[in-house]
Amino acid sequence: MCHIPFLPLQRLTASYGSELTEAVQRVVQSGYYLNGEALAEFEQQFAHYVQAPHCVGVASGLDALMLSLMAMKQCYDWSDGDEVIVPDMTFVATALAVVRAGLVPVSADVDDNGLLTPEAAQRVLSARTRAVVPVHLYGHPAPMPAFMAWAEAHGLLVLEDAAQAHGASVGGRPVGSWGHMAAFSFYPGKNLGALGDGGAVTTAHPQLAEHVRILANYGARQKYKHEYPGINSRLDEVQAAVLSVKLRRLDADNARRRQVAAWYAQGLDRSMYRLPYGGDVTQSVFHLYPLRTSQRDALQRYLAEHCIDTLIHYPRTLRQQPALSASLRTPQPCQQAQCWAEHELSLPIHPLLTLSEVQHICEVMNAFG
Ligand SMILES: *Cc1c(COP(=O)(O)O)cnc(C)c1O
Repeated sequence: MCHIPFLPLQRLTASYGSELTEAVQRVVQSGYYLNGEALAEFEQQFAHYVQAPHCVGVASGLDALMLSLMAMKQCYDWSDGDEVIVPDMTFVATALAVVRAGLVPVSADVDDNGLLTPEAAQRVLSARTRAVVPVHLYGHPAPMPAFMAWAEAHGLLVLEDAAQAHGASVGGRPVGSWGHMAAFSFYPGKNLGALGDGGAVTTAHPQLAEHVRILANYGARQKYKHEYPGINSRLDEVQAAVLSVKLRRLDADNARRRQVAAWYAQGLDRSMYRLPYGGDVTQSVFHLYPLRTSQRDALQRYLAEHCIDTLIHYPRTLRQQPALSASLRTPQPCQQAQCWAEHELSLPIHPLLTLSEVQHICEVMNAFG
């Protein structure tokens, strides 16, 4: 069998036929490239999809996280140096957003699913803690009912990092509707991806939504009256139009990702590999298929020799990132996060992966060692 790429973006884009190019063409011909009808339409559709009353399109997932924290900080009068709890195993943006908002990220350990839990967050709670950021890592939703109850008991706000989990839900309620705010990324490789950068904030709180809009618009509510030192962060019309087309297929795409995960769970030798979620495929939307093995690096080389692309999410914990060494507070050891960094390997998973490709990957993997 020939080369199996990690994510064939060109083929995925082509699978929409002329729908995407027609959407782009409509924007090109409209004369409106920012803050137009395509954005308003997508914001409304995505808010409806997430079951959140408000959605604000922004320029990236990092901005969605940062602007959410800046809005919380302003609306609730937090001070510079107040603390926000983040998982030690996540993409670096989760913590960088906290730093950029003038707050201090505090790392807590993750569990057997790679996720932050209220129990781990409790162990790093301090008098300066203001918020917690559960990350729905790999597409698996964090335990949101428990997080909301715990946060309420301690007077904290909850910001969901839903950058990897578009379409996931907990007890029938979508991620992005649980926290006080939620941040999404539309980076091309995400389950809902644009043809460039993009992001969105969802929230049930009109005041927080309004603050994100103002902060993303140079801190101005009305033209040329700048109330806050804001930034420029926009989801442009081309990306918004593309995302509206792709949103229609998101549930079907996520169902296919789950099918691929079920094939892996059937085909892989469980005495050799620790499968994500013990082989359960009902909770995650499988942005990634993160398995664990003590032979991770040798396995990755072996698969590359057999023309199967894999990636590691992520090879370093937050505390191992030089960029965060001066800013991240690490009151507790994070052994589980360290285990994920040493043992995790992500196999190809996407809506176009076929049964025969997955069977081939499983055969090659079961013959390893
Ligand atoms: C992708 C991602 C982000 C950042 O999104 P960008 O659009 O690349 O800025 C943040 N958090 C997590 C968990 C992500 O996977």
